[in-house]
Parts: sequence; structure tokens; C-alpha cells
Amino acid sequence: CFNRPIASSPGASIQVLERVSDNGTKTLELLGTLDDLDSDKQREEYEKSPHFVKVSQDRVARNCLNLGSYNYLGFADDWNITCKDEVVGSMEDLPVSNSSPRNEYGTTRLHREVEERVARFLGKEDALCLNMGFNTNCTTIPALVHRGDLIISDELNHTSIVNGARASGAAIRIFHHNNSKHLEDILREAIVMGRPRTRRPWNKILVIVEGIYSMEGEYCDLANVVRVCKKYGAHVYLDEAHSIGAMGPTGRGCSEYCGVDTSDIDIMMGTFTKSFGGMGGYIAASKDVISFLRKSCAGSSYHNSLSPVVCQQVISSFKVVMGEDGTNIGKQKIHALRDNSNYFRMRLEDMGLHVLGHYDSPIIPVMLYNPTKICSFSRECFKRGLAVVVVGFPAVPIITSRARFCISAGHTREQLDHALKEIEEVADKLKLRYAVSTFG
Ligand code: PMP
Repeated sequence: CFNRPIASSPGASIQVLERVSDNGTKTLELLGTLDDLDSDKQREEYEKSPHFVKVSQDRVARNCLNLGSYNYLGFADDWNITCKDEVVGSMEDLPVSNSSPRNEYGTTRLHREVEERVARFLGKEDALCLNMGFNTNCTTIPALVHRGDLIISDELNHTSIVNGARASGAAIRIFHHNNSKHLEDILREAIVMGRPRTRRPWNKILVIVEGIYSMEGEYCDLANVVRVCKKYGAHVYLDEAHSIGAMGPTGRGCSEYCGVDTSDIDIMMGTFTKSFGGMGGYIAASKDVISFLRKSCAGSSYHNSLSPVVCQQVISSFKVVMGEDGTNIGKQKIHALRDNSNYFRMRLEDMGLHVLGHYDSPIIPVMLYNPTKICSFSRECFKRGLAVVVVGFPAVPIITSRARFCISAGHTREQLDHALKEIEEVADKLKLRYAVSTFG
């Protein structure tokens, strides 16, 4: 049994422990004080629940099935089998931190090995790895584009992209979410009109999209994005935080899934925090672009480098996904993720819930609409032993509040069936089904 604290919030006296049992089942254990329970009635309900554990006089713990983390390939569930030995072994002779940025003394052979694997996995000439996915967007976009350049960004792109774009000094235009027709309109106008006032042509145009949009569970219309970018000579920047490892028959992400050659995507960005169960971000691109970024992006020069121990964890996960560990586990994980995601999505749709997004996406949002249902949904799920992320304003528009399930290859069918049964009860209680909300 392996327990580790993954978060705590002293103000709310809540501590979250991740518990991995001997059979690989992963649950979240949320610890709080008895005072955190709102009323006597609620306390009574909690005490009756099989998920409730009183850990001391004034502390409570609740075991929940984790339906909220981005542990897509389940490396956190079976890390005993897949990664632990190599990672623990690496701790014998590697520091946890190099205490230095990449460009000073923060590069080890493991950083280069991560980069070599990422480049090989994606069919790009070279790659750069940095200590966080968030920083990767925030620090590489300003290195790539400047004043006199134009960024055209999907309206639902992640905050790290928005921050990077704003910091770059480039002009920014936004296109309607996943709408390559609108993207083409903006590109055409940008080429015809040029820069405001001077009307000189833009130095560079960078179109930024994501592989899977994390609030919508939709994958990018990449083939059309690439087609229009080629037509107008724009560069493509693809953020694969949620799609790398999770999409495509061999986990190579959105390009593989959409049948787009990676040579048509100039900049491929991704993270190791989700499918690979580690930390850090990467950029894969041509040798020239990577060599330029190594020298000029703030993430290389001013941020501590990725922990060498984490590099080892990322390498071990890659070996599994790339089938270099001598087992079939990587393939099985990719198939299990797709089967679990599609099964869960289909069952939620059959229940009459309004489910967003596409089949094959492991992110499955369910619309709650009314913002007052956010807390009730989360609380009802929590009471039934399900840890679910709910999303409201300002992350999404106020009347499009939603619950967002993240499915993992590590979930068993029994766990998913149990969760679906509980969700059905919650849906009835909160009148979330179509038939009820339309005619009820
Ligand atoms: N890009 C996207 C699209 C994301 O969703 C996220 C985080 N969820 C990031 C970048 C940042 O990645 P990280 O959490 O690995 O820093």
C-alpha cells in the first residue's frame, strides 16, 4: 500500500491523500475535520456511508474513486510495475534537483534522453524539455514571436497559451473555437490587409491550437487547421498537453489520430504531467528551432531544470508506451483508455445527460448549466465516494457550468459501472436528464 499526500489546504482543513492499494486500485482520500461537515444531518449521512472513515477524534477521511485527475494511461495506478524500480534506483545516484537552469548546470544525460525520446516518438528532428508545461507555453511563445508578428489563437486555448501570447508583444486575433472556416477568414484578412496603419505584411503568423480542449473534451480539427495554414503560409503551434499518449493508435497524439504528418506541424508542445504521470513540458520541432529556443527561451535560461529523478520517471513511462520495456503494457493501456472513455461516454449519453465532446476523448464533460448545481453535484458525488471536478465561471461562461470526468486506463469496468450507477442517482436528484428537464 502506497500513500502520499498530493494536496492540502490548511484554510479548509482538507488534505488529499492518494492511496494506491496492493491490487493497483487508486482512490483519493480526502481528510478534513468534523467541523467541515455542514450540518448534523450531513454528519449523520456521512457516518452511515461506507466511504466514511473516522481517523481520529476530530478528523474524518473519505475514500473516493478518482474521476478527476489527468492520469490517462494509469501510470499512477501501476507505477509499482511500470516505473518504480527505475525511479527509485535513480535516486541512489541522482539529485532531486540540479538547482540550476538548463543553460547553466541543469542539463544531465537524462534530460537529453528525454528529449531524444520525445523527438523520436513524434518524428521531429529535436526536442527541448522544461520543468513545467505551463512554463513551456509561457516562455517559448514569447521567444518565437514578437512585435510585428501575428498570433491567431483558438478562443478556448489554455491560460498558459494566453499568458505566453500576451507576453510576446505580437498582435493577437482569436478565432471561434475549433472553427477552421473562421480561422481561414482571419488568415485571409491578415494577408490582404497586413499590419494596422503601415499595411506592411506581418513578419510571421503563428496559429495556436490544442490537441484536446480540456473543458470541452473535443479534439482539434487538425487536418483543416494545417490545410489553411499551409495555404496562407502560417506556422502551426499544437499544444498536446491532453492528447499526447492519450490519442492515436500508438499514443502519438492528435496528429496520429487525425492522420496529419508531424512534418506539417512546426511546433509540437506537450506535457509529461498527464498521460506520462510525471512533470514537465516539451517542445518538439526542427533542429534550428530547438537550438534557437535552447538559447533564447526564458524557460531554458531562468528556470530550474526538470528534476533528474522525474526525467527518469518520464523515460520509464515512454519506454512502456513505446513498447521498449519488453511488454505489451503500453499498447494495453492505450486500448484500455479508449475503451473505458467510450464506454463511460456512451453510458452517460444513454442516461439522457447532455455530454459534450467527441468519442475517443478521455475528458468527458457533462452539462449542469445552472451554476447552483455545481456544489450540489460535487457534494452528492462526494457523498457517494466519487471525486469529480466541477467547473463554473470564470473557467467557462456562467450558464454553461459542467462536471468534468477524466477517464483513465487504470479504471476497471466495475469501478466505472459503480460510478455510473451513482451518477444516475445524482442526475435524477438534480434533474439533469433531458426528459426530466424538458418535460418534467
Ligand atoms: N496546456 C494545456 C492545454 C493544459 O491543459 C495545461 C494544464 N492542464 C498546461 C498546458 C500546463 O501543463 P502543466 O500542468 O503540465 O504545467
